[in-house]
Amino acid sequence: MASIDEKLEPILAEVLRRNAGEPEFHQAVREVLESLGRVIAKRPEYADDALIERICEPERQIIFRIPWLDDDGQVQVNRGFRVQFNSALGPYKGGIRFHPSVNLSIIKFLGFEQTFKNALTGLPIGGGKGGADFDPRGRSDAEVMRFCQSFMTELYRHIGDKTDVPAGDIGVGGREIGYMFGQYKRLTNCFAAGVLTGKGMLYGGSRARTEATGYGSTYFVQSMLGTKGDSFDGKKAVVSGSGNVAIYTMEKIQSFGGTIIACSDSAGYVVDENGIDLNLVKEIKLARRGRISEYARLRGTGSHYVEGGRIWDVACDVAMPSATQNELTGRDARTLIKNGVIAVGEGANMPSTPEAVRAFQEAGVLFGPGKATNAGGVATSALEMQQNASRDSWSFKRTEERLADIMHSIHDTCAATADEYGTPGDYVLGANIAGFVRVAEAMRAQGVI
Ligand code: GLU
Repeated sequence: MASIDEKLEPILAEVLRRNAGEPEFHQAVREVLESLGRVIAKRPEYADDALIERICEPERQIIFRIPWLDDDGQVQVNRGFRVQFNSALGPYKGGIRFHPSVNLSIIKFLGFEQTFKNALTGLPIGGGKGGADFDPRGRSDAEVMRFCQSFMTELYRHIGDKTDVPAGDIGVGGREIGYMFGQYKRLTNCFAAGVLTGKGMLYGGSRARTEATGYGSTYFVQSMLGTKGDSFDGKKAVVSGSGNVAIYTMEKIQSFGGTIIACSDSAGYVVDENGIDLNLVKEIKLARRGRISEYARLRGTGSHYVEGGRIWDVACDVAMPSATQNELTGRDARTLIKNGVIAVGEGANMPSTPEAVRAFQEAGVLFGPGKATNAGGVATSALEMQQNASRDSWSFKRTEERLADIMHSIHDTCAATADEYGTPGDYVLGANIAGFVRVAEAMRAQGVI
């Protein structure tokens, strides 16, 4: 385990004590605090006034009941969350996750990460996250709609374009945002486009928002490769997941001349030595909400499906974990390193375990942490907020150009910060310190908040 500065040890101990039984939140806080020793050595004032303790404590945590009727007329109940983590830089901003694993620990870790990620974008957005332990899999459209309406019936009183602006995450895409937006509008009698992002194009959405996280992650890795005079051209890539993030990561890597060898869903992975046929993945996963196992059957020779197993056993030059937290373990990292991986970019939030991150860094693999690499999604949400505020709608080209600029600038900020703190090439340290300093400076300027 990387070491924690002795001034920060009691702070971490206190965070662990008061948030007992929240392992994902502990993991995320520990990872950031491990980077901060170098900052407080240079800027001791950041350890004063309980600033770090305040940054680790969410401003507000809302937990609520979501009752809804299933298609058989049975009453179901789920638990909803919104953690409004930090508003020093702008309204709380972050997605909503619908997945059976959702609990307070997961939403808090995501909200904490989001705060630094959003700071790195340089745009005026604070950090928050929400969700519910609802499993959309196997539910009809009508059930998903009733669930979203019930979720919003509580959430609406806590959000607003100047307060808190949710968006999608795992299990929440355009369909769910549409149902939630419709319910918000009925409850408030207000067409407040800027209250949610990830909306459909007909009612205030932004072009390139759907593609943004995946495209942005690819831009970030492109910048990392560029520091070595290298590029995606001719590289083999493995991208875990087959949701929005993974699909548009694969699309951009292909457009940069890379070949995608494997992708996955929660049941297994598919290998295609000829390069993944993205249209087929889109057809299966986006249009039909099916399983990736169908891919090999439909594609035929040259591809095969592996039930369960580890996608990271597939040899590649670039790995992009784009499914969920802790999906890439120390063992997986060692396998990837043995097979010659040169760059890893986290499309998901905290997909690599601490042991995996350490292994990559020790082996000199270029490693882009999620809070920097996948910031393109929320950055484009902030661009959607801008378009909503000015009642405008930008072209795809204009939006994607802004996204590309933002991603290259996040990369350069992380790299320059790592240099400044004496650890060149350490994007984990660079992202944690650069994000932290922005939040910390804004909080100090605003008094004891
Ligand atoms: N859920 C995404 C993330 O983890 C996007 C959040 C947003 O657009 O607000 O950053």
